[in-house]
Amino acid sequence: MGDRDTKLHFATRCVYGDQICPGEEPTGAVSFPIYQTATFVHEAVGESTGFSYSRLQNPTRQRLEQVVASLENGIDALAFSSGMAAITALMELFQPGDHLIADSDLYGGSIRLFRNISAKNGITFSYVDCSRENVEDHIGEHTKAIFIETPTNPMMRVTDIRKAAETAKRHGLLLIVDNTFLTPYFQNPLDLGADIVVHSGTKFLGGHNDTLAGFLVTGSPDIAEKLRFLIKTVGSGLAPFDSWLVLRGIKTLPLRMEKAQENAMAVAGYLLQEKQVKRVYYPGIAGTKAYDVCKKQARGFGSMLTFEVESRELALHILKSVRLIRFAESLGGTETLITYPVTQTHADVPEEARLANGITDRVLRLSAGVEDKEDLIADLKQAFAAFEGT
Ligand SMILES: *Cc1c(COP(=O)(O)O)cnc(C)c1O
Repeated sequence: MGDRDTKLHFATRCVYGDQICPGEEPTGAVSFPIYQTATFVHEAVGESTGFSYSRLQNPTRQRLEQVVASLENGIDALAFSSGMAAITALMELFQPGDHLIADSDLYGGSIRLFRNISAKNGITFSYVDCSRENVEDHIGEHTKAIFIETPTNPMMRVTDIRKAAETAKRHGLLLIVDNTFLTPYFQNPLDLGADIVVHSGTKFLGGHNDTLAGFLVTGSPDIAEKLRFLIKTVGSGLAPFDSWLVLRGIKTLPLRMEKAQENAMAVAGYLLQEKQVKRVYYPGIAGTKAYDVCKKQARGFGSMLTFEVESRELALHILKSVRLIRFAESLGGTETLITYPVTQTHADVPEEARLANGITDRVLRLSAGVEDKEDLIADLKQAFAAFEGT
């Protein structure tokens, strides 16, 4: 956190990055331009504007990467065409024979990648509940990294990042943290000892359910250099227009995060007293282990919550009956979305692994948006009431 004090404050950096003085953009445009170009002219051999071809770097993407690196207190950030493109490139850091420890409750797409693509490339995985189990018991001579999400998707388990970082350091492993759910507004894993932060920029950073994006952020020059080589080689960098959309989204990140969290708190409060709901998983509920760990390492609890209802029929009914809340995959946007992990985000996770994590056909996940909380609660209320009446 050292140089945080000398930096501009967070919300200011969301708007300007680290550059408060205008001038780096020759026209004086207040909104950073979209450089919609594939290639750049060289005046002569050995001369360059610093840009040569947009797969390597593009000014709009660079601007976005600088803002994200600043928000995560990293030295470099790389913007990819989606979260999965970022994680796919990241896996190229590893060799056949390498072993990784991955949390057993990751985003379903990450598990699909590990089980089907990374495994085919000779990388092996141990799936561990990093919030509870002793990670050290799973480290072998070929282990190279620990990959976690906290809170996890969808069961909202919270792992102690400092502790995981200590374990990783002791054994010479990389700690990779997918920080999509809390974003740098609430949590900075690099400050807690992580080596690489992953984001699906599609979610809170973009924030408007209108574009895909992904990020890798690091505080290590050595890792940054390897990732720069990978992005130009695998070619999945974010396009200029999408970079601009995410830049625009980030300007309101603090406002959206606060409002969405307030809404999630209110919805959690309602669900806790709705008698057709069996359990609510939200780290902002005091008295839980997730709450205590989150308090120690984050500045908030986010706006994602998961709840279990009494029956599969009721879960299906809720999905059909909500009017304002959208039944759709994804999260972190201005619109409140409700998701059915069993058939959507986690459909490709083997049933046994899914059930072991408590992802039954009675579980629903909700991403609170920035609407008025009264309308969200009224929508859920009418959906539950209609079922009682059937
Ligand atoms: C959505 C998501 C991803 C994948 O990102 P895409 O942008 O959809 O490719 C990875 N991790 C988490 C936690 C996510 O929610």
